[in-house]
Amino acid sequence: MPELPEVETIRLQLEKFLVGHRIEKIEVKNPRYEIPQKDNLLGSEFIGVRRFAKVLSLDLSNKHSIVVHIKLTGQLIYRGPNLKEVAALSKKVVGGVPGAHTHIIFYLDRGGVLYYNDIRRFGWVRVVGSDQVVKEGFISKLGPEPAVTDNFTGRALTFEDFKKILSRTKRAIKVVLMDQTKIGGVGNIYANDALWLAKIDPKRPADKITEKETEELYDSINKVLRTGLKYGGASELAFVTPDGREGKYQEHSLVYGRENMPCKRCHTAKIKKYFLSGRGTYFCPACQK
Ligand SMILES: [Zn+2]
Repeated sequence: MPELPEVETIRLQLEKFLVGHRIEKIEVKNPRYEIPQKDNLLGSEFIGVRRFAKVLSLDLSNKHSIVVHIKLTGQLIYRGPNLKEVAALSKKVVGGVPGAHTHIIFYLDRGGVLYYNDIRRFGWVRVVGSDQVVKEGFISKLGPEPAVTDNFTGRALTFEDFKKILSRTKRAIKVVLMDQTKIGGVGNIYANDALWLAKIDPKRPADKITEKETEELYDSINKVLRTGLKYGGASELAFVTPDGREGKYQEHSLVYGRENMPCKRCHTAKIKKYFLSGRGTYFCPACQK
């Protein structure tokens, strides 16, 4: 599932592409994605794009926001005058735009179009008052998130928060890192890589992580998320950016997806894979204790 770096990459592009555009027409192609009173949004202008962990809020001039959680396979694709260079659409946009998996089309002024595609259809799109976004059920339950972006305005995860979160649970450290109600934005790819970087076994009980290890892990999380941002996220499953391209982090992952390949640090042990709480977990049996 797209994580903080992927969703932030989408946010940065949407902000560039959408701000200043007005909505002229909204076409909902799949009743599951119906937007109640969607006509109230017509004529309003995009004024900003916020991100809360993995959720996006497209803010409009009429004080309403289109809140989008792309979940596993949601895609927001922009076509229009703010796209300086139109790259070939990634093959991950199955069926193209508009296509069989396009559920909502926002027609904008000056010939702009924003498509919402979703093959698996786990993602959701809701319209709420802009000042109500933070109270929206899912968002209100999010834990603080690592402050790794320039214009971060949310609740930042401090080292003290992080220490407290770990000390209060016996659950496996990797499961805790991915619990959105404890820490927002970290999912499977970056949890795997951060634990490898901090040399910590993913299944260790969180409350048994030492203070020094906690420091290393806190820094490692920030580091892998920043690297993820640098490469425009990881294009697993269906992740593409609004310009229709893929991210490149998967070519630089530290341990994620490297089953049976030599460890990038010790160069002797082979990376093992197992499932922890149903999620693919990669680790080096020699380096991670
Ligand atoms: Zn190793």
